[in-house]
This record gives sequence, structure tokens and C-alpha cells, in this order.
Amino acid sequence: MDLFERLAGAYDEAHRLKDAGRYPYFPELAAGPGGDGSTARYGGRELIMCGSNNYLGLTGDPRVVAAARAALAEYGTSCTGSRLLNGNLALHGELEAELAAFCGKPAALVFPTGYQTNLGVLSGLLTPRDQVVIDEEVHASVIDGCRLSGARMRRFRHNDAGHLRQLLAGLPGLPEEAGRLVVVDGVYSMGGDLCELPAVARACREHGARLLVDDAHGLGVLGEGGRGTAAHFGPAVAAQADLITVTFSKSLASTGGAVLGGTEVIHWLRHVSRALIFSAGPAPAATAAALAALRVLRAEPERAARARENAARVRRELAGLGVDCGTGPAPIVPLHTPDVPRTIDVWNRLLERGVYLNPVVPPAASPRLRASFLATHTGEQVARAVEALAPEAPLLRGCARRRPRG
Ligand code: PMP
Repeated sequence: MDLFERLAGAYDEAHRLKDAGRYPYFPELAAGPGGDGSTARYGGRELIMCGSNNYLGLTGDPRVVAAARAALAEYGTSCTGSRLLNGNLALHGELEAELAAFCGKPAALVFPTGYQTNLGVLSGLLTPRDQVVIDEEVHASVIDGCRLSGARMRRFRHNDAGHLRQLLAGLPGLPEEAGRLVVVDGVYSMGGDLCELPAVARACREHGARLLVDDAHGLGVLGEGGRGTAAHFGPAVAAQADLITVTFSKSLASTGGAVLGGTEVIHWLRHVSRALIFSAGPAPAATAAALAALRVLRAEPERAARARENAARVRRELAGLGVDCGTGPAPIVPLHTPDVPRTIDVWNRLLERGVYLNPVVPPAASPRLRASFLATHTGEQVARAVEALAPEAPLLRGCARRRPRG
């Protein structure tokens, strides 16, 4: 059979939705006025932006933009090669040093994206003789990194440290030389809930497993001064996160990612991570923007609290309308929907009411709208978002949280 034959007719629904002007994916969004990320322009209209990961609202911050411009002027547009060879900048090293110090880890290694960070770290560390145990709701990049490594992989029920302990205790006849790694997300990207890190860390310690926390959504918004999910649980737990991966595409208003950990493991990863070595170094402007955003975060820790408070207010007000949209301090609010068609219906209705959210459907997660709130949303914008959501309460009310993946 011709390889492409099987593609005929696939995603016809997307064509149908496009023709009807209701297709919710790949929207051509532009920044709203003011550059604080709280609004976006779409289809000629200004919308309240409740669908971005720009948690601290820094993508248009004058200090971040100026740093990106200065790097562009000094280094040009691209590194044009791997960091291993010609694509390494002093800026990469500076960002590594400041990130590591900020999160209280000895060393860091910067990658071109967060996705590549997980891919490079997991496939660089694990071999087919190792055992990795992951939460069933970890990000796709963790799953892909584990698959690429060839390691034996088991999944534990979401945030169920008891099940994790059971799996670690029952690992069948692992050879002496097999390493054990547990991988969790600090904040689950589609549910907004936090990992039960103290219990997970304890299970790892009891069973001699190393722990990697993907803190893409925790850095910048959780823990003291935005130091992340591990910091949120206090220094003792933070010290037990052997490796932390982060991305710059959320609170740090850029693109890129990094792994933080001990000097030896970082040294190893620097020399073996194929996702690092066989890809060009992060662009100068992107690296400078992330570094500047980190400095703003350090200087203005109140931003993290504002993002959390905005989301907490939405959760409270929606709970008042009988809609269960989870708990916890992260600025992500999931609104569970009954099925895919109705997810797209609600998305379109919210657009008409001036609010942009993310429509999420399987296999990414069970159907839902994912709302996220920023440090820069005003009280009035938050109130308008709740007002736009309120007519959907009867539909959203009955939708319990379901299994994440198909
Ligand atoms: N990990 C998690 C938990 C994420 O949510 C994401 C991005 N959605 C990534 C990793 C990948 O980050 P990046 O966008 O930098 O590739």
C-alpha cells in the first residue's frame, strides 16, 4: 500500500470546521495592545487571553524586549550550529549559572526547547537495561524521551504515590546494574494540579530511585519567589529532586529549556544528549529574553502571586456556580467538557464573548477547555472572563474529571 493512501480522508472534520469558520486550532493570534500578554488579537478582534503560558506577562516587557534586541545586534539572528561546536554563546552559560543558582541546584544545561530538554535528558541518561516509572499524566516529551531511551517503562496512576511505591517494590528481577528513575511533572499541564512531591520523593528514597521533576509550569509561579514546585514543598523536598527540567516558553517569555542538577550528571548530559548536540544552540535573542525574564522574576516576585491569585479567584467563582475546576495554587484552570464536539462549541461561544481559551481533546487529555491566568490580567479582565464562562456552567457542571489519555 502506498504510505500516503491511508491519509486520505483523515482529519476531514478539520476541513468541515474550517469551512464553517469554527476550527479552533492553529489560530493566527497577534499580541494585544500594551504588550502585557493579557489580551490577544484574533480575526480582527481583541480578546482576553486566557490561553497562554505567559504566566508572568513578560513577552512584551520592555526589559525583556530590549535584552532580546541587544543580543540580536551583538550576535545576529542565529547560532548556526550546535553548542558543542560553533553555536555556543556566553549568554547560554550566563543563563545556566543564574538558573541553577535561582533554583538552588549546582549546575544547569540549556537546550533549544523544553521538549528537547526532556528528550535529551531521558535518552541521555537511560539505557534499555534501566527502569523508568512515570506518572500517567506526564507531558508527551517525557514519554517520548523514555521511549527513545529504550528503557523499560511503567506508569503509575496519576498522583498515586501508593501505586508508585507498589510498582517500585514489585519491579520484577531487575539486574543489579539497572538504574531506576521516577519522572513526574511538578504541575500537570492540562489539569493544573501539583505533584504530591513529598510522597513521591519518599517513595524514590525508599526504593533507591532517582527523581526527575518536569517543572515547565511551576517555574516562575510556584514556591518562594517563583522558584518552582519543588521549592513550594520546602527545601528538604527540593533537595530530593535530583533533576529538574524547565522550559523558557512559559514564565520566562521565550523559547528554550534547561535541566538543573548535580555537576557530574550535567557534565555527562552536556556530552551525550543528542537533542542538544545535534541541534543548533538556542537563538541569541531567545536566550537573552529568557535571562532578562529570569532577572525580572527575581526582582519582582509579586508577579507570581498575582498569577496565582487571579486563577484562585476564577476557581472560587466557578465553584460558586457549581463547576468543579480543581484545586491548588497553579494558574491553570481546567474546565471539563462532555465530549469533543461540545468542547469546540463552547470554545466558539467563548470567542464570541471575547475570551480566548485552549480547547483540549484526546489523545492530549480528556475533553476540556484549559484556561490559564496571568500576573497581568486585571481584576476587570478576570471578572469578564468569569462572566463569559457563567452561561456554560450548566454544561460544565456535570463533567467530572476523567482518565487523561485514550
Ligand atoms: N513539559 C511540559 C510539562 C510542558 O507543558 C511543555 C510545553 N507544553 C514542555 C515540557 C515542552 O516545552 P517547550 O514548549 O519549551 O518545548
